[in-house]
Amino acid sequence: MATNSDRPDRYGLVGHPVGHSRSPMIHQFFAKQAAQALSYELIDAEPAELEVAVLGFRAAGGKGLNITVPHKEAAFTMAQELGVDAQRAGAVNTLTFRDGTIYGDNTDGIGLIRDITVNLGEPVTGRRVLVLGAGGAALGIVGPLLEQTPGQLVIANRNVARAEALVKRFAEQGTIFACDFDALMQSEPFDLLINATSVGLKGENPPFPTSIVSAHSTCYDLVYSLKDTPFVSWCRAAGARRAHQGWGMLVEQAAESFYLWRGIRPDTGPLLRRVDDQPLTAS
Ligand code: NAP
Repeated sequence: MATNSDRPDRYGLVGHPVGHSRSPMIHQFFAKQAAQALSYELIDAEPAELEVAVLGFRAAGGKGLNITVPHKEAAFTMAQELGVDAQRAGAVNTLTFRDGTIYGDNTDGIGLIRDITVNLGEPVTGRRVLVLGAGGAALGIVGPLLEQTPGQLVIANRNVARAEALVKRFAEQGTIFACDFDALMQSEPFDLLINATSVGLKGENPPFPTSIVSAHSTCYDLVYSLKDTPFVSWCRAAGARRAHQGWGMLVEQAAESFYLWRGIRPDTGPLLRRVDDQPLTAS
């Protein structure tokens, strides 16, 4: 008869919705590659259910959880010990349950920087960078972007107060400005544009002025999809030099979570290539 100790270690993803997530496939791929016995499940929880979902999973022997929309800021308040990236972001995407303590980390920024600078070979240092959006994902990526010392970092959001609050949080760490989308019409084109909004997921066109894109611009969408995302199509139509969707970031942030949980850094190469031949759906 199987005992608790015979069972693979349990991990999972909590969000709302989570049904289309590719995270189970990614973590099972890493587990097989590293010869680790673990399970990875999807837990759909509305905001009011988050605490019960997380604490219940831990009480049942769970070892760690990824956290996605809309819970990253709430998970921050549940963590008892915080990693540097989670602390400065005020948002958590990885919880680890160890020795009676809930550890909170944020691997979104590391995932994005690895995909842009290593996988795509695009520098951030010295470039004019625009982040579109000021939600949970933007919170996670702004600190690691500033660490790369961009020439300038602008955060544009529909709700400008949210962009201003984000800029205040990071103001001491580099040159960073907040604005709304209308103000972008007065701006020169950017070298690197990063879409951290969920715009386009419901089929609407990106509401940004095309003047922010030039033939020198590299564009990156945090949203991922098998075909071009609406933002990637919009950037191509606006004349961007390169435009990429966020599969590589998803794989790299998952690899960092796996490392935090298991102490083994997966080889992401085979999964990065799979985007070309495997059906994907948006997260
Ligand atoms: P969030 O906290 O809900 O924030 C959503 C952001 O999108 C806000 O800035 C919001 O602006 C903006 N927005 C939504 N609808 C809009 C519209 N119609 N017009 C203009 N702005 C709009 O979500 P999040 O956690 O930041 O995630 C954002 C996206 O990044 C999601 O699609 C998520 O799947 C993706 N993501 C991908 C990865 C990856 O690994 N590839 C990792 C993290 C997140 P307001 O503040 O004005 O409402």
